[in-house]
This record gives sequence, C-alpha cells and structure tokens, in this order.
Amino acid sequence: MVERKLIISKDFNDPEYAKNVANTKRVLEKFTLDKDFNSLYKENPDKALAEAGIEVDAKSIAMLLNDEESKKTRKALLDGSVKLFDLPDCYVRYMLFMQEKLDSREELRTKLCIPDEPGFKEWRARQERRCFIEMGSNAKKMIHATLMFELTEGCSVGCPFCGVAAKGLKGIFRHTDENARLFRDILKRMHKLIGDAAGYGTLYYSCEGLDNPDYEMFIEDYFNEFGKVPQTTTAASTRDVERTRALLNYGLKNYPHIDRFSVISAEMRDILFEKFSPEELLDVELLPQFTDAPASSLVKAGRNRDETDQDSVNGTIACASGFIINMQEKSVRLMTPFVSDKDHPTGEWILEKAFFSSADELEEIVRRMISQYMNVQLELDRPCLASCDFELVNKDGKIWAIGHGNGISSYDSFLDQEVLDKLLSLLKEKKYTGYEVLNLLPEDVNYSLVILLLKFLWNYGLIHQSQSKKEMEDM
Ligand code: SF4
Repeated sequence: MVERKLIISKDFNDPEYAKNVANTKRVLEKFTLDKDFNSLYKENPDKALAEAGIEVDAKSIAMLLNDEESKKTRKALLDGSVKLFDLPDCYVRYMLFMQEKLDSREELRTKLCIPDEPGFKEWRARQERRCFIEMGSNAKKMIHATLMFELTEGCSVGCPFCGVAAKGLKGIFRHTDENARLFRDILKRMHKLIGDAAGYGTLYYSCEGLDNPDYEMFIEDYFNEFGKVPQTTTAASTRDVERTRALLNYGLKNYPHIDRFSVISAEMRDILFEKFSPEELLDVELLPQFTDAPASSLVKAGRNRDETDQDSVNGTIACASGFIINMQEKSVRLMTPFVSDKDHPTGEWILEKAFFSSADELEEIVRRMISQYMNVQLELDRPCLASCDFELVNKDGKIWAIGHGNGISSYDSFLDQEVLDKLLSLLKEKKYTGYEVLNLLPEDVNYSLVILLLKFLWNYGLIHQSQSKKEMEDM
C-alpha cells in the first residue's frame, strides 16, 4: 500500500517519493503546455516520454493522460471495483499530492485567513458567502486574503490576458533603509490589527513581484514578521533563472508552499523544462497562458474581457477580501472579488482607495475603513442600505437574488407581495437607513419579519451598508 506523505512540508524528505510525483507532474505539464508532445504521445507514448527524458512508466501514467483510461479508472474507483491504493504508485501519489494542495487551499480559506478583528472577520465571511452564491464552486478557489502588498506601481510584463489590466511599470519601491523601516512598521501594525491572517497574503497583486530588484529583501522582512514566505505568482520566471532558483530554494528552506509560474509563451515553457528539473518545480504550478498551449484557459476579466460584448458574463482573478497596500504609490484599497462586468471590468469591487504618507496615517485609514464598511451586525440606524451586485426580484412572495454572473438563489420572505415589492424598491434607491426603510413600509407590516429578512440578506452579502451615498451610487 502506498503511504500518504505530505510533500508540501518542511519535514518531507524522501527523494524517491518526490522524484516519482515530480516526474508524473512533469508529464502532465507537458501535456497541458506542449501540443507536439501531445501528438507524439498519442502515437507512441514510450517514445514521447523517452524523448522528453521523463522517468515514468508509460502504462501507469496512461490512467492520468489517456481520456478513456482515466474515465475507466475513475468509474472503477467510484463503483468500488478498484481500491485507490491498489493502483500504480505514480497515480496514487500524484492524486494524494493534488488532494494535499486542495486541502491546504481550503484550510487557508476556511481557517488561516480569518482575521481576528471582529468587524473584518464578519465582513470577509459575508463576501465569501456572496461569492459562493455568485460563482458557485469557482469561489472555492478564492482564499479571500486579508492583506496584500504591491512593491511597484504598474507592471513591466504587459500580458495581453492580464485579468487586472495592470498598467505599465511606473515606479519601484526599493529596499532603502527608510523604505524598509516603513515596510516593517506597516507589517507589524497590520499583524497586530488583523492577526496572523495578515501573514497569508502576497507581495504582489496588480504587478509583477520580480520587477522589484529587492523583492527578496522584502520577502525576508515578511518572513521575519510572520514566519512565512509569501506565495509568488510570476510571469517573469525565466528572466533570470538563477534568481528564480534562489527564490524557490529560500521558500523550500524556510516555509515550503506552492508558487505559480505563468507560462506565457512556448519559449518560456522550453526554458523552464530545460533549466529546472521536475523535482525543482514540484512545488510550482505551471499555468498555461498562451494561445498555442493545449490547456490554455484564461479568465475573462481585465484585458481578457470581451469589450465588444457589453453584456458578456465573465469571471475574476481577484482572491482578496481585504486591503491592498501599494508601497510605491502610498495607497491602500479595500477590495473584494466581483464577477467582471462593464462597471467592474477587472473583477474587483473596490470599496475605497485612499493615500497615506506614514505608517500612522495608514493605520488610521485602515481602522476607519474597518469601522465604516465592516460593521459586525446589520445596524438599522446606519445610513444607506442597498442591494449589492444582485438584482433582488419578488416572485410569488419569494425573493430571487439574480447575480450578474451565473449566481441565482431564492428565499422565502414570509411577507406579502406588496410589502416585499415596496421593500425591494426602497433598497434599490440606495439611500435609506434600516429604520427609514421600516418607516416607509405600510403601517401594519410585521417589522420582525422585515428585520429578519434584512439580516438574512445582509449575512449573505446580498445587501450592503455604507455611510456614504456616493459609495452606493458607484456600486
Ligand atoms: S498578469 Fe501579472 S505579470 Fe502579467 S501584466 Fe498582469 S500583473 Fe503583470
């Protein structure tokens, strides 16, 4: 029986096991990134594997590569005629490795990224529920990180598919004494305010981390504060192969985790396969992001949105429900994922962006944003209550929440048709407090039921509260 081993772990130390999983992973990557390998494999699997220099047994790997074999295996596993641990080692080990990755992502979303600050904690949970209604199982991929940094303004890569439509590189936040002091001070304050959840973010968002020559020095500061090496997703992994190798080694030594390389051309793919052994890239996901790649799949957001189709329903690559701090621009934005549409082309709902000149001022802004947008409970005397990105429709006394993506769900309101109609039209006006809404309803209405319904909608992120009408209008 194949023993289950946790590969993404500091304690993992079994070169044979790692080699087996890494080689299996490399074959699958070849399959998703290289159409010539694909064709050759279909004709002659042994030859294709030998030419690629990959040491795996062609017969065993067929369960992962060949559509028919893979369906047969999955069916047999489901009907119980085959037990997982009776299958070839490479299959079992690879499946366990994939499950481990999914489990660690799930742990981030459901446990590690939950902030200590009570208002922030509830607000993040509401955004998570809203995303589930709106995006279904795709929302499982979002960890809703609470804090991310940008160490440059803009990005030098200019990917044509950029989901956040990053603009060109304008400035770099170098690791000077003064800048490093400010960065460390901010890390400390955010750690205290948000809790350990603040340490599961990244040092890039709408930018390319490796554009900053001092990226690694900031990573070290981050490690010193949180004891974690943040994930790197880069489209510049082949710009300086030795730099990339050193970065991977630093992560492996200090805090093993999964990094991600966007493979944006066939040339980049070839360099990665040539310069890095399968074992070196075991903890790195290679994302096929060029048109010729057999498994290229790009989210329709940002520059990859179809602008000619104004009604086009797309996606989002955003995975933070929290603060994005741009150190170069000295700005902070509070954001959460949103299915991209013509008003939110980058798939982000930015509730507010503000500028700071010191760590003190930044902390003040973040605290103010938390109290302004993140009330723990629905407060009936707060200004402005409005439906969120969902259209709320009354049908036979039921509320249908229709998202602008694929999300749709319905709830019993237990209210009369007319009362519900009136309530929904008041929410659409985006200007009343909860008490004002109640006062504008017919006098004989059951207020408890209305309050219960508002709380329910609010808990699922289907309605939103703010201090400002302007924010509501922009929503
Ligand atoms: S995808 Fe990343 S690397 Fe490419 S342009 Fe956007 S921010 Fe830059």
